Amino acid sequence: MSASIIDGAMIAADVRKSVAAAASALKAKHGAAPELAVLLVGEDPASQVYVRSKVKQTEEAGMRSHHLTLPADATQAQVIEKVRALSADKNVDGILVQLPLPKHIDEQAVLAALDPDKDVDGLTEVSAGRLVLGKPGLRPCTPAGSVILAKRTTPDLAGAHCVVVGRSILVGKPAALLFLAENCTVTLAHSKTKDLPGLCRSADILVAAIGRPEMIKGDWVKPGGMVIDVGINRVPASTPGKTKLVGDVAYAEAKEVAGAITPVPGGVGPMTIACLLRNTVLAACARRGWEVPAALG
Ligand code: NDP
Repeated sequence: MSASIIDGAMIAADVRKSVAAAASALKAKHGAAPELAVLLVGEDPASQVYVRSKVKQTEEAGMRSHHLTLPADATQAQVIEKVRALSADKNVDGILVQLPLPKHIDEQAVLAALDPDKDVDGLTEVSAGRLVLGKPGLRPCTPAGSVILAKRTTPDLAGAHCVVVGRSILVGKPAALLFLAENCTVTLAHSKTKDLPGLCRSADILVAAIGRPEMIKGDWVKPGGMVIDVGINRVPASTPGKTKLVGDVAYAEAKEVAGAITPVPGGVGPMTIACLLRNTVLAACARRGWEVPAALG
């Protein structure tokens, strides 16, 4: 039997709707909607597309957005100064520094200048520490979105064996910690893991965050298990000269074995910005001492 498809586009739209309801409730109660500042350094076309999309979706959710740009040749000191200014600006609730930064700028040094209470990407050392310690804080968006997708399918994940393949700071490590916080038994796999297919087959929840097109085959999937495919890989399409997006999981094979699976595109991808907007509301409430609106769930 074919797996049920976890519709990330629909679930992300639900999250955005709940964010819009929460933003509207906050505006009615406190006279101000949360504000997200997005800083883009340089003119990388892909980053410009991402930033435009973030700004548009922030405004569609009824929040204020504040879009700043610096030229590609801005110095590290100038970028840090801008991040410090946004951190000190009492009207700004969330700050997103669009990555990657130009090569001459040390991303860690820039992130270190960011107020962790405004770190809506969840990338600062303080945010990472809060996640490890299980303290309240802003969680990285893509892993948080992956957990929301899993919980829409199985609300109580306790006791499930979750295998996360990939141990990056951005996705794999925080995903492992977030599934652990849901009381899963977590195994974190990587390029040196032995018998990866066998390990994957033992996963009730298999999270693929590798960056290798369709590496996880259908017979690596536990029959009836859940597959969350974080991978986004551009590969040649069957039409010459065209490309298409595929995940890290061989979707056509895996969906014949899994109980539930996220597609690529339309799975984890749309959840990232939705969780960014959600984090902006959470950041505004935490720093301004506002109660989190019930609409946010
Ligand atoms: P990284 O390249 O930073 O990390 C990849 C991880 O996969 C590493 O930990 C690496 O292990 C592991 N890996 C690589 N090859 C193998 C292998 N043969 N067997 C087992 N493990 C392996 O990637 P990211 O975490 O940044 O991204 C992962 C994927 O997620 C990419 O496709 C990316 O495009 C996508 N992505 C999607 C997002 C979204 O949906 N919005 C957001 C961010 C990323 P090791 O550490 O041992 O080298």
